[in-house]
Amino acid sequence: MARRLLKPRPRGYTHSDRRYTPEEAAARQRAKLPGYYERNRGQACEVTGCYRPRIAISRFCNRHRTANTNYGHPEARVIRWLVLKPTWIRVQRLLPSLDQEAVTAALAICDRLVIQPGTEPPPANPRTAEDRRKLRLLRELYRLAHPQASRHPIHTSPRWSRPVTAEDVLLRVIAVVCAVWLNPKLLPVTRDDRCLSYAIGRAVLHLRAEQTIRAWVNPTKEKWIANRPPVGGACYHIGEQLRSELWPLFILVKPRLRLQIERGQKWKAMKASRLRRRQELVVVQQPNNHESTPVFSFEES
Ligand SMILES: [Zn+2]
Repeated sequence: MARRLLKPRPRGYTHSDRRYTPEEAAARQRAKLPGYYERNRGQACEVTGCYRPRIAISRFCNRHRTANTNYGHPEARVIRWLVLKPTWIRVQRLLPSLDQEAVTAALAICDRLVIQPGTEPPPANPRTAEDRRKLRLLRELYRLAHPQASRHPIHTSPRWSRPVTAEDVLLRVIAVVCAVWLNPKLLPVTRDDRCLSYAIGRAVLHLRAEQTIRAWVNPTKEKWIANRPPVGGACYHIGEQLRSELWPLFILVKPRLRLQIERGQKWKAMKASRLRRRQELVVVQQPNNHESTPVFSFEES
C-alpha cells in the first residue's frame, strides 16, 4: 500500500509489464524449473515410436536430446567417414576439371570463414551469451589452425601435424553436400536444411578431432585419450555460413558428379560385357579342344 502511495502506477499497467533485473529474472526462471521437471515425470519421448522416458526438462529422451543438440534433429545421425569417403574421393578427382575461377573464389571464401579467424587466439573473457556462442566456434577454428603434436601411436599421419588448409575445408563441404544429394536417407527430412548445416560444420570441425585426456589408466599411469566431438551450436554456425556462401559451386559440381558416375557405370558395364563375351568364346571353343586332345583310355593300354 505504501509503495503505491510513493509511486502511482499508470492506468492499464499489468504485472507482465514489470521490468526485472537480470538476477530477479534468473531467480524467477529457476523457481519455474521444478514445475517443468514435474510436468515431464512419467512422460515418454516426443519422437514417434520411442518410449524411453523424457530426460530433465527436455521434450526428448536422453539419446534423442543429444542428437537434437549435436546434429540438429532428434532423429539425425552422424554421417560416418566410411560413408563420406567414396564421395570425397570423387570430388577430389573432380575439382581440377572445374572452372578454376569458381574454385579459387570458393577457396577464398573458405579461407575467410574458417582459416583466418583461427589464426589469432580467441578472446579470453566473453561477457554475454552471444559472445560465448561465438567463442565456442572460434576455439574450434583456432584448434584447426594450430596442430598439437600427439604422441598417440595411431596419430602418425601428417594431418595431425600440419594446419588445416582451405582446400581440405572445401573438399569436405562439397563431399558432405554431394553425399547427401546422392543418398537423401543420410539425413531426416526437415522444412529447412538445418541438419545439412550441422553435418557440414561437423565434417569441417572434425578435420582434426580434438583429443582430451579422458582418464589415467591407473597401474601404468598411461593416458586414456578420447576424441571430443565439436559443439553442436558451433557446427551449425560455421555450416550455415559455408552453405549460404558456397551454394553456386554446389550447382556447378552436381552435374559433373552425375556425369562422372554415369561414365563409371558405362565403363563397368562395357568391361562386364567384354568379359562375358570372352567367356562365351571360351565355351564355344571348348568342345574343339576336347576333340583334339588325346583322351586316355584303358582299352588301348
Ligand atoms: Zn527418444
